[in-house]
Amino acid sequence: MQISDYKYVIAGSGFLGSVLAERIASVLKKPVLVLEKRGHIGGNCYSETDPETGIEFHKYGTHIFHTSNERVWNYINQFTSFNQYRHQVLTTHEGKVYQLPINLETINSFFSLSLKPFEVEEFLHQQAAKENISDTSSFEAKAISLVGRQLYEAFIRGYSAKQWQTDPAKLPADLLSRLPFRKNYDENYYFSTYQGVPSNGYTAIFENLLSDPLIDVRLNTDFFDVKDQLAADATIIYSGPLDRYFNYSLGKLNWRTLQFEKQVVGVEDYQGTSVMNFADVAVPYTRQHEPRHLHPERSYTKEKTIVFTEYSKADDGSEPFYPIPNAENIALAKEYRKLVGQEKNLIVAGRLGDYKYYDMHETINRALEIFDDQIKTLHTS
Ligand SMILES: Cc1cc2nc3c(=O)[nH]c(=O)nc-3n(C[C@H](O)[C@H](O)[C@H](O)COP(=O)(O)OP(=O)(O)OC[C@H]3O[C@@H](n4cnc5c(N)ncnc54)[C@H](O)[C@@H]3O)c2cc1C
Repeated sequence: MQISDYKYVIAGSGFLGSVLAERIASVLKKPVLVLEKRGHIGGNCYSETDPETGIEFHKYGTHIFHTSNERVWNYINQFTSFNQYRHQVLTTHEGKVYQLPINLETINSFFSLSLKPFEVEEFLHQQAAKENISDTSSFEAKAISLVGRQLYEAFIRGYSAKQWQTDPAKLPADLLSRLPFRKNYDENYYFSTYQGVPSNGYTAIFENLLSDPLIDVRLNTDFFDVKDQLAADATIIYSGPLDRYFNYSLGKLNWRTLQFEKQVVGVEDYQGTSVMNFADVAVPYTRQHEPRHLHPERSYTKEKTIVFTEYSKADDGSEPFYPIPNAENIALAKEYRKLVGQEKNLIVAGRLGDYKYYDMHETINRALEIFDDQIKTLHTS
């Protein structure tokens, strides 16, 4: 089929685009064209096997699937099974390792105390009261007003400065929507009902989602390079950056980006866990990932392991990873969303298209809702 023959055209093969392609092909039984500018499917969830060690890794950073949404869980389990992995995160501060999010173990270990769960709230309140903060409009002031200066300086300030490439005193409080902490020793990172890593990796899910012969995937193809060839009445589902769709006509949205450095280390286990944060500014990177821990059920080589060191970068025009939800960006995204609403047969959605940080289950849910509320309706009307 020619590009101009397709009535459904999707830009992007991440979860947003792949779930919608699967629904259109399997429920509507219609041909669908998926255009992907990268050389692989799966968007930022793409996984591959390192040829030197045989260890599977997530190219764009460690991804843990978790959800309490029954519909999403039932849907995705048609395309993969999950292992028993349970996520926990540790952080290194001044050479010592602590648990995250801040919990009773973190607090007791850091202050050399033996607080009980019912004493934590009052303790943090006293810590925060030492500063007497009335204006909580900055990220720093808000964080200190919640946990006090000592915990802030140890676990939040350095990491956030590296993460946002800005002094947290100059960051807006809206970036700190919540500061999770636990009053007990629970070290589970997620509270979701279901959790795991896909048994055969993420890329296998996308291969299954896109396996219907009605789906035509074209890699290394930028939507904007072929846009002129699309049928005038094609329904376009675009999951790339929102501002790019409108050629940045209202201005540019800002993104945070990441850079990873790979290293093969000649030991079986380098850090004993999949993700280690580094809280101090003196350490230039934010995290180290050791992907072998994501699949405890696999028997990987005992001779070596791979470690990815993650650096956070301010918006440098390269690959966009995270939206920066400050007041200006939120307002600008809202203006762009109005333009989307004015176009016929256009859906712009996903992490980049909605300009929202979505976890995978939220992206899948968004795609299922779009299919029910917009695509099926258009198809039957
Ligand atoms: C570092 C990191 C870690 C994460 N960890 C987790 C986690 O542990 N758990 C979790 O649930 N979620 C996690 N997420 C979130 C998860 O990655 C997203 O929910 C998911 O990738 C969103 O899917 P999407 O399809 O909207 O976007 P993406 O996966 O970004 O896919 C968009 C696709 O569109 C393509 N595209 C863009 N522009 C064009 C164009 N012009 N033409 C053609 N193709 C185009 C891109 O190449 C890309 O393949 C993480 C995200 C990041 C950045």
